[in-house]
Amino acid sequence: MSIDKEESENRQSQKPPGLGRQVWNLAASLASFMADGCKTLTKPEYETRLKICDACDQRRGNQCLQCGCRLSLKARGRAFQCPLNKWPRVGDDTVES
Ligand code: SF4
Repeated sequence: MSIDKEESENRQSQKPPGLGRQVWNLAASLASFMADGCKTLTKPEYETRLKICDACDQRRGNQCLQCGCRLSLKARGRAFQCPLNKWPRVGDDTVES
């Protein structure tokens, strides 16, 4: 089996964390979101995050395999973080407008 094919199959077989871990991740994210005053991102900031997810091998449709979160929701909250720290910090010069 070629390395590319093996890597592709490994990626396909990846699963999100178990339900308990997903609930814990969601609760922790929501606590951060509320502590941040429920602030959301601008549309360009939101789109920048989703573009990064588009290129990430941890994305499966609308779900992140690292945390199990729904990306269309998670990417909106300013306090929410990529579990692999791929998203730019809000306010960084790296956020495209
Ligand atoms: S949140 Fe991070 S780890 Fe998850 S799909 Fe997006 S870039 Fe990848």
